[in-house]
Amino acid sequence: MSMFDERVLEKYKNLTRGIEERMINLHPIQSGGRAGDYPGVVQAVLRFVDGYSVCDFCMKGRLDLIESPPLCDFHKDIATFLDMDEARLFPGCRQAQYAAFHALVKPEDTIIIDSLAHYSTYLSAERVGANIVEVPHSGYPDFDLFLDVYTEKIEEVKKETGKWPALAFLTHVDYNYGNVFDAKSVGKILHDYGIPFVLNGAYTIGRMPVSGKDLGADVLTASLHKSFASPAPSGLLLANEGYADVVFKSSSMRGPWSGRNFGNKEVETLGCTLPGCVAIGAMAAFPYVAERIKHWGEEVKKARYFIEQLERIRGIKQLGQRPHNHDLIHFESEPFFEISKNHPRKGFFLYEELRERGVTGVQPGLSTAFKVSTYGKKWDQIKLAAEAFLDIAQKHNIPLY
Ligand SMILES: *Cc1c(COP(=O)(O)O)cnc(C)c1O
Repeated sequence: MSMFDERVLEKYKNLTRGIEERMINLHPIQSGGRAGDYPGVVQAVLRFVDGYSVCDFCMKGRLDLIESPPLCDFHKDIATFLDMDEARLFPGCRQAQYAAFHALVKPEDTIIIDSLAHYSTYLSAERVGANIVEVPHSGYPDFDLFLDVYTEKIEEVKKETGKWPALAFLTHVDYNYGNVFDAKSVGKILHDYGIPFVLNGAYTIGRMPVSGKDLGADVLTASLHKSFASPAPSGLLLANEGYADVVFKSSSMRGPWSGRNFGNKEVETLGCTLPGCVAIGAMAAFPYVAERIKHWGEEVKKARYFIEQLERIRGIKQLGQRPHNHDLIHFESEPFFEISKNHPRKGFFLYEELRERGVTGVQPGLSTAFKVSTYGKKWDQIKLAAEAFLDIAQKHNIPLY
């Protein structure tokens, strides 16, 4: 007899969230993936909410070849939109990175990555058995990558291992400081060597205009639930001619006894990735995203305004590139940390006092430093959010400039 007690099921009924409606949410991983801002996305997702809902007319056994709903067109159109040759949906940027590494790297190969890469880049490398070499950054307070060091690292790998690196990787915008890196300059270096360039657009694609070819990317990854107003889990892997055949290689496996084979399936997608409402959500988000990236300049203005306001609090300092070029902002906040030491709620006070003022998204418990994103907020929300921080500072007698 199972010990299962049906009373435990009560908590799964009527699940709700609602913070996006009730609060100004500044959480950096949530601001660009908010699908609820776009009624068309919500509606489409609901219509396709049943499991394998996109598979009614899957004639060729591949997600990217389904004509109705227009997934086939979507794959072509999104590739064109990002100026790449081929695109495939993945459950996230991490799976896309792993797939790319898995296709391009053999165990014991060395790859070059930037030292501000997301943990999933390191884990992807680990999972394929690669050795990594890191491109260093300048450290505090700018955390700027030394991009010209790619050349030095390539030569170093060749000298020490006798082989060229299997690929080089750059995080277009890093997730800690929101620094935007000159991918094009790295693309040039790698093309001179003929080494594949994998560019991670997790924090760029869907927020700002990105042209893979212009940046010299051979392979491009995206997180749709982070930056493309899409439900999770969704991401993209894109590749250009010359690498697409390797990255999107078809299966050649044959059952030795049965003779079964699956030549129409692609190995790195395990045959299919997003067979339902998530793929639909990403498609439905596309027109909204194509429109919103035109206003990237305004998003940068909002971020800069927010930085200017918060730096009026003595001791609050934005880290990373200045002036800042992205909505993801990292503040060091010594004065808040000082308050937390004597506050009954310790480090949680900032999170809680912000919430009392209708603002959320800073990590609960953290007060030495915090990250926010101003992406997609209206100007009056940006102003309200900044005022909440200023108000908290004043309440605790931190001087303002
Ligand atoms: C968030 C993030 C990822 C992981 O994205 P998922 O789509 O959640 O897998 C990878 N790289 C960077 C730079 C990120 O910021």
